[in-house]
Amino acid sequence: MSQIDLRELQSTEFPVPTELQDNVAITSLSRIYNWSRRNSVWPMLFGLACCAIEMICTAASRYDLARFGMEVMRASPRQSDLMIVSGTVTKKMVVPIVRLYNQMPEPKYVLAMGACASGGGPFKEGYNVVSGIDQYLPVDVYIPGCPPTPQALMFGLISLQQRIDGQSLLDMDDVPWYGVGPSDPVPIPILGPDVIDPRQMELIRQQAQAAAAGLPYGGREMPKAVVEVVEKAKRAAVAAKPAVPAVAAPKAADVTDDPEKAERMRKREEALARKRAAQGKSE
Ligand code: SF4
Repeated sequence: MSQIDLRELQSTEFPVPTELQDNVAITSLSRIYNWSRRNSVWPMLFGLACCAIEMICTAASRYDLARFGMEVMRASPRQSDLMIVSGTVTKKMVVPIVRLYNQMPEPKYVLAMGACASGGGPFKEGYNVVSGIDQYLPVDVYIPGCPPTPQALMFGLISLQQRIDGQSLLDMDDVPWYGVGPSDPVPIPILGPDVIDPRQMELIRQQAQAAAAGLPYGGREMPKAVVEVVEKAKRAAVAAKPAVPAVAAPKAADVTDDPEKAERMRKREEALARKRAAQGKSE
């Protein structure tokens, strides 16, 4: 960016006289934080299939991604904050894709480019294809098309910029990476006869036990007979264990004398609890 246009940063709440607008800007911290991030999103350099050709065209001179500050495609996840999943995601490739996503620093975003990355595309239900990367990673923007044109990709990137603009430093749900503790990595799928999501490991184990016992084990939902067997086993395990009185850990907000700090910590803990509950639901 050769010249900074301060008008982009002006806040309507505190108008600056017209003659000063080239030199003075009054704005919020969130706005300047988002403005700097939205104009320097660095995508990771990788492509999966035909959609990647359109992505390469978008980065070439005709469409000029440099206008968005996105021309610096990094060859390392450590230096990237946008993963453009451009192409068919096979079961073999989803394992390194998730591993690379985990290696990207926060804040990070995922853009599913094309029908294949969004939902399997023409290969949906194929023996070797994942039905959408969103089954494994949190996708921020979907771009339809087979393949999407460079213009469609640019529209997706502008949508991502608008999403970044809407984030506030005051809302911990928007910026969970500033919360207490490290962010949880996405479980890396296991490649076997079929891709296994480690989050479903318990269900898979129970179904395998049911199958070994000659019981019907169903598909995605556990059959009633298995649910009963599992519940019975759980009740037996609870009955066999001596009850241990639960001791609540002291909350961070309870161990400080500063009421303002305690209030901030309490809000952070509430936001984290909401995030964990939402993750638990999606799992
Ligand atoms: S969406 Fe179409 S163009 Fe893109 S990778 Fe799939 S088949 Fe190829």
